[in-house]
Amino acid sequence: MEQAAYDVIIIGGGPAGLGAALYTGRDRLKTLVIERFLPGGQIGNTNRIENYPGVAETDGPGLMATMQKQAEGFGAEIKTMAEVTRLEKRHDGLIAVHCDSTVLLARAVILAPGSSYRKLGIPGETEFRNAGAGVSYCGTCDAPFFRGKDVVSIGGGNTAIEETLHLVKYAKKVTLIHRRAEFRAEKILVEELLAKAKETGTNLLIRYHTIVTAIQGQGKVQSVHLKDLKTGEEEDYPCDGAFIFVGTEPNTQFLKGFVDLTKHGFIRVECAYLRTSVPGVFAAGDCRIAATMQLVTAVADGVNAAMQIKQYFRDPNWWTTPVTDMIQYSGW
Ligand code: NAP
Repeated sequence: MEQAAYDVIIIGGGPAGLGAALYTGRDRLKTLVIERFLPGGQIGNTNRIENYPGVAETDGPGLMATMQKQAEGFGAEIKTMAEVTRLEKRHDGLIAVHCDSTVLLARAVILAPGSSYRKLGIPGETEFRNAGAGVSYCGTCDAPFFRGKDVVSIGGGNTAIEETLHLVKYAKKVTLIHRRAEFRAEKILVEELLAKAKETGTNLLIRYHTIVTAIQGQGKVQSVHLKDLKTGEEEDYPCDGAFIFVGTEPNTQFLKGFVDLTKHGFIRVECAYLRTSVPGVFAAGDCRIAATMQLVTAVADGVNAAMQIKQYFRDPNWWTTPVTDMIQYSGW
């Protein structure tokens, strides 16, 4: 039988992937992390993290650099700028991972490809984004380019509020545009946002019940077209940039036909042990069903998957054991 080059291949070098690699590395399992860009994932673009228990305040790049170092310190190999295009389960039980022009074999795989920015799908969005002419999905990355300018930010979740609070430090005026009157973000963030909007001479405005239907301009963003969902009124609203924070979508296109996905592309797992529809293949982090999309839960998912791999390696029949019958396996 052909030998697997790796015990475990982890696809994705964000918090879930690096959390998993730390644990498989410590278990002396030969581990490879494949990352299509650079390690860090979306959280690598976050400039302030204050909800990682035990760490009062840190920044995304710093925290992720430490996670990478820790995983490498325990032997995990990290391959960057490498794209996985396809996976196959072979008859001998190994998993073939097609990565660029090579095929790598592993005894188990953890899928941790994370998620990407959701698009609004409105006229002007892709054109101005591709031209680098005023559409962005990352305030932390692009706020300094809008120093002294007027921008709109769109959305009502944690990302929209955190990023808006970052943008107000740079822009002359920030208008947050939300389609409802309630925010789905954590209350503590909403309080901070509303307090900022009430300050005397504030540069933060909030427009409720409003959607952006187009992004407009000659060669660069000069306005957005707004529609008030209550009154039906429409207007062109001048601005130099549009920041879009309307959620995320799982990076699972390459997994179609390999593992079971929901219609929105999330990987179906049995949530206690993170087993997918393919024996030996686990999923962790934002890519899976019922993910809470938090840094800490992504890390925890990676660690959970890494721990369950031991059960699978000990007894492949574990894969089909229902969670309710799992008591026989819990004698660590
Ligand atoms: P999210 O929570 O899904 O929020 C997306 C926001 O965009 C919602 O307010 C939604 O409006 C709005 N939206 C969606 N489609 C829209 C459209 N077509 N037009 C206008 N508005 C639209 O996404 P997120 O803020 O990126 O957060 C994703 C996950 O990461 C969440 O679980 C979040 O808690 C987590 N996260 C956590 C932190 C943290 O813990 N510090 C930071 C960032 C993100 P409605 O509310 O009307 O649906």
